[in-house]
Amino acid sequence: MLFDCSLQLNRRSFLLSAASAGATGSLSLLALPLEAMPVMETSQAQEEAQFTVEARFYEKLANRKIRCKLCPRECNVGDRERGYCGVRENRGGTYYTLVHSRVCALNIDPVEKKPLFHYLPGTSAFSVATVGCNVNCKFCQNWDISQSRPEQVPARYLPPKRAAEMALQNHCPTIAFTYSEPVVFIEYVMDTSDAAHEAGIRTIVVSNGYIQEKPLREAYGKMDAVKIDLKAFTESYYQKVVTGDLKPVLDTLVTLRKMGKWTEIVYLVAPTLNDGDAEFRGAAKWVKENLGEEVPLHFTQFHPDYLLKNLPITPIATLERARAIATAEGLHYVYIGNVPGHPAENTYCPKCGKLLVQRLGFEIRQMSIQHGKCGFCGHAIPGVWSA
Ligand code: SF4
Repeated sequence: MLFDCSLQLNRRSFLLSAASAGATGSLSLLALPLEAMPVMETSQAQEEAQFTVEARFYEKLANRKIRCKLCPRECNVGDRERGYCGVRENRGGTYYTLVHSRVCALNIDPVEKKPLFHYLPGTSAFSVATVGCNVNCKFCQNWDISQSRPEQVPARYLPPKRAAEMALQNHCPTIAFTYSEPVVFIEYVMDTSDAAHEAGIRTIVVSNGYIQEKPLREAYGKMDAVKIDLKAFTESYYQKVVTGDLKPVLDTLVTLRKMGKWTEIVYLVAPTLNDGDAEFRGAAKWVKENLGEEVPLHFTQFHPDYLLKNLPITPIATLERARAIATAEGLHYVYIGNVPGHPAENTYCPKCGKLLVQRLGFEIRQMSIQHGKCGFCGHAIPGVWSA
């Protein structure tokens, strides 16, 4: 099973499936009827060509060099070289993505797993990923695909229209771009979103928000809902643990707000690294002042993985402290994640206090929101509650 960045369950099944599939084979343990996906009888060169599409956000420089304008890294890439994310290559002064339609992970997930709690609750998201990421989080649960190069992970050719057809066939009202980092496969995100919308399917992106404003507006502007990881509230954490910067992520959140995109935020709480009161308070205050009190904020439990196996699981008391601080700062919808059965998985009416959505893990147990309003007092509850 794969994880939506800050969610963790049993990730080893994916590794086993990938390993058993061999270097160029299919993924064998995924939840979908993969035999329905096209298997191309092609040479390796033809296979590579079908995944290789000119990149959308870059500028040409002298001497066949390019500057990538997709994420804040702005990689300067020489001929026959790749950018930091490893999935974009300069060939003779033209920049290419190597992962268009190159799907290495495919699942049908509850939308609550993304996690989106205020967007079509109880529905399924047709979830896809390619390899690659533009940061290197030391706690990444999907490091085997996020930190890999395209040639290192088995994948299938899943063009945008076929992805939309499969979502329809599997009764998924949404396609989610997730697991690795959709910023680095943005061309596929955009084309698949167009195909999905033509087929009446909505689209979701689960992202680190580490993206420049132009591609953000053009690509995420096509999305119907967005989940952004706010991984901490200090630049030092972003530099040491994420290998990125906080400021561009905050800018992304503000831009999404201006664009009117439904957005939820996840803060993965790593013991001793980003779990201080001041940091929780600072993040909550910033969210309230810049995005408003109604943006859902999920504090999720860390489990040791990848390069942070030395840390313990986040104590539930720490998550409860984070939630208490954010609630005291005035946020209305503060959740605790990765702790199935915790009462803070539920949605409560901020006006009358009644339980509105009861969850158990990714499952909806009870729903008392009617036409976007509290079923008890009529207070408007932000989100998209029905298709
Ligand atoms: S998307 Fe990749 S190539 Fe482009 S700037 Fe970011 S890390 Fe570099």
